[in-house]
Amino acid sequence: MALRIDVLTLFPRMLDGFLAESILGRAVQAGLIEVGVNDLRQWCTDKHRTADDRPFGGGAGMVLKPEPAIAAIEAIQTPGCRRIYLTPDGEPFSESIARELSTEQHLVLLSGHYEGIDQRIREEVIDREISIGDYVLTNGTLPAAVLIDAVARFIPGVLGEEKSLTHESFTGKLLDFPQYTRPAEFRGKSVPEVLLSGNHGEIEKWRLAQRIEKTRQVRPDLFKHYRHESHH
Ligand code: SAM
Repeated sequence: MALRIDVLTLFPRMLDGFLAESILGRAVQAGLIEVGVNDLRQWCTDKHRTADDRPFGGGAGMVLKPEPAIAAIEAIQTPGCRRIYLTPDGEPFSESIARELSTEQHLVLLSGHYEGIDQRIREEVIDREISIGDYVLTNGTLPAAVLIDAVARFIPGVLGEEKSLTHESFTGKLLDFPQYTRPAEFRGKSVPEVLLSGNHGEIEKWRLAQRIEKTRQVRPDLFKHYRHESHH
């Protein structure tokens, strides 16, 4: 059964282009992944369709009210589904979380807005809280899209060549190697000789050396783990 992902957001149209284009668009078309976009306003039942209110205790901004979000999730959820709130104070998203989520049957992604959401929503209907990075965005719809994109890549058939998953940044705790295509010379800069040599052993060696050097320079935090693992 194809993975189903339901997004719950106040801004459903933000996902239109994202879900229609390129690799993800094709995956949706082919039924490899099913994405439901749900407008939270549907569950705002008062006459002004209010989704938010001022925070108790004061402070700037508005907070998503518990009733609509909880009613929505309770309507959308299925037995065994994973209900995820995208939030900057969640656990950091990663390739391994994306891989893990790709094996689920149903994900429900809640996008917050304004100052965030009422704590009781998190306590009542959320199983997991995920951040896409240490920066704050205006709402959780793009974070939901980021999660969907990263998860979709692990679903068999979504990427043309399955092997594109094995040589990539973060696989084996290393960043990716530099890529080149034609022309072999551009503005006086030549493609590294070894890539034109046809010697696959040498090419592999060069690529690994590039990955190691790049990771050492740009992400010493990852590099620490790489050395640790390769010695044991
Ligand atoms: N007051 C919240 C805090 O400091 O944790 C920030 C709320 S943010 C302005 C509004 C919404 O955007 C959040 O409810 C969340 O859904 C989403 N959001 C913003 N940055 C995010 C991030 N780095 N990862 C995941 N979601 C994020």
